Amino acid sequence: MSYRQTLDFLLYQWLAADALNERERFADHNRETFDAVLDTCERIAREKYAPFNRTVDIEEPRFDGEKVILPQATHEAQKAYAASGMLSAAQDYEVGGMQLPYTVEAAANSFFAMASISIGSGLLTSGNANLLMAHGTDLQKEVFAKNEFAGRFSGTMCLSEPQAGSSLSDIATRALPDGTDYQNDPLGPRYRLKGNKMWISAGEHELTENIIHLVLAKIPGPDGKTIPGTRGISLFIVPKKLVDTQGQLTGERNDVALAGLNHKCGWRGTTNTLLNFGEGKYPVRGEAGAVGYLVGQPGQGLRCMFHMMNEARIGIGMAATMLGMAGYQASLEYAKNRPQGRPMGPAGKDAAQPQIRIIEHADIKRMLLAQKAYCEGSLALQLYCARLVDEQHSGKPEDADEARLLLEVLTPIAKSWPSEWCLEANSLAIQIHGGYGYTRDFPVEQYWRDNRLNMIHEGTHGIQALDLLGRKVLMEEGRGLQLLAGRMTATIQRAQAQAELAPYAAQLAQALQQVGTTTRAAWSTGRPGEALANAVPYLQAFGHTVLAWIWLEVALAAQPDSQDMAQRGRLLATRFFFRYELPKIGAWLKVVESRDMTCAEFPEEAF
Ligand SMILES: Cc1cc2nc3c(=O)[nH]c(=O)nc-3n(C[C@H](O)[C@H](O)[C@H](O)COP(=O)(O)OP(=O)(O)OC[C@H]3O[C@@H](n4cnc5c(N)ncnc54)[C@H](O)[C@@H]3O)c2cc1C
Repeated sequence: MSYRQTLDFLLYQWLAADALNERERFADHNRETFDAVLDTCERIAREKYAPFNRTVDIEEPRFDGEKVILPQATHEAQKAYAASGMLSAAQDYEVGGMQLPYTVEAAANSFFAMASISIGSGLLTSGNANLLMAHGTDLQKEVFAKNEFAGRFSGTMCLSEPQAGSSLSDIATRALPDGTDYQNDPLGPRYRLKGNKMWISAGEHELTENIIHLVLAKIPGPDGKTIPGTRGISLFIVPKKLVDTQGQLTGERNDVALAGLNHKCGWRGTTNTLLNFGEGKYPVRGEAGAVGYLVGQPGQGLRCMFHMMNEARIGIGMAATMLGMAGYQASLEYAKNRPQGRPMGPAGKDAAQPQIRIIEHADIKRMLLAQKAYCEGSLALQLYCARLVDEQHSGKPEDADEARLLLEVLTPIAKSWPSEWCLEANSLAIQIHGGYGYTRDFPVEQYWRDNRLNMIHEGTHGIQALDLLGRKVLMEEGRGLQLLAGRMTATIQRAQAQAELAPYAAQLAQALQQVGTTTRAAWSTGRPGEALANAVPYLQAFGHTVLAWIWLEVALAAQPDSQDMAQRGRLLATRFFFRYELPKIGAWLKVVESRDMTCAEFPEEAF
């Protein structure tokens, strides 16, 4: 099955994405316009991205003391991406967008993620600009966001610092008003920032005319002190090069200096940087301090930044999914061609028989089926979440609110589940290649290295787990969890009516009940230390339950044409998930339910 066939099935046959054009916002679109976008992106990814995925891995970004040098292929790929209009695909026509549903935008971007995640396709730039469209002033939108959508400027998100990664309340970057007239700058209240930002992706390069950093910093009060915690955090636009109110470069360099490039395990085509803000390397008007313009209200920075982070988390989930998918396709091809071993007859192996291809061994099929179940299931989840984003933005008020709350609960899963299980898929892809998989002559080791990042950035696995069990399942008196359970129950009821699917419906109903009981048991003492001690096993079990539900949904959509091999494959992948994967949740939930303190209370000295 080609990837495009899978994508089309999920988009149209399962999610009925073409029906979105019944909504006013998408009225100019139809299946043909959606397909045209998918075709264009598939082509650009095939021509400008896929052939250079290894090049950008080998030719790591390098700093010559003045400029960061990237392979020419990266310049060309990103130019083609910007020219396709995808940076502003979901935006209004008035700002040059296509008013494309996010579901179709996410599907179209999946081609780039599979062809070369490392070259990058503007996730940060469009996320940065989308944030400004939601929280910026009219002029900030005009000068910064619109130029990002046009591909003239690119964007970053600067949250992390060397001493503050997961715990953003400890950031040390400070912003002080710039002069007595600081409130009167047309680009927004003007501050001077000083501090160091670590791990900033795409923080320095020559791919665009300018780089627009969105930076979290604290504004000290009159006593020089900052408000502790995240309430004290504000958000600033800090351009690498200063611009006027028309968006033209003024010729002045802002005081943002590259302190160094990080040399990564994977995802090497994108620069990753340590940036020094305001150290005086590029003084502005004779003074040290990076010029930054406040976005929104002081103290509201993290709230604004969540706009970008939530979007980025779904984007990261898609990245992890597509890296898994790339490995699945490569190992499937390899398994069909590699002869090794002989068939197992009733009397064992017969050395006189000709060799068989490894795809004929049951264990290889197990590994292929696991990859299919992880990656296609995960793709379905990402598209389901994207469809919720469209519902949130274009649905009736009560549907939009329901979609918002479901997204709150599902976002930690959409980000973390593929990061763990599509990474496992990459490991299985290496295993199928045997020794060849462990060499750089085949692409699968790079997919694994590229994918290894996804459990770390945009909130680590541990942080996603705390968010899910510590916040999301409890928020609004557990309404999000109830909504999700309601959707799962509706699927269970439909599946009960189909003989082939009824056993899975019963299994999912039991899993759902177990998750509910465990959630209550985890919090039964009201002590966060106990409830959250096993948050990651909870995340894993919750994720597997969600994926079982998604597979049952997919199986229901596949059911009518079950003689077709593609549909048969989906039904059998569902069977695999329910027989080999879902039973794992019992062990994960047990330690959560009993609030097992084996790990939490293990004495440090005993390690
Ligand atoms: C390649 C790359 C690209 C990145 N891009 C960006 C970017 O563009 N912009 C940006 O701002 N940041 C970026 N990051 C930073 C990334 O978001 C952080 O690395 C991540 O949030 C973790 O922070 P840390 O590295 O300081 O690890 P730490 O926060 O020190 O975490 C170390 C370990 O401790 C665990 N841990 C921490 N706190 C807790 C807790 N309370 N309970 C349980 N466990 C805990 C973590 O889960 C983790 O396993 C990037 C990172 C990398 C590696």
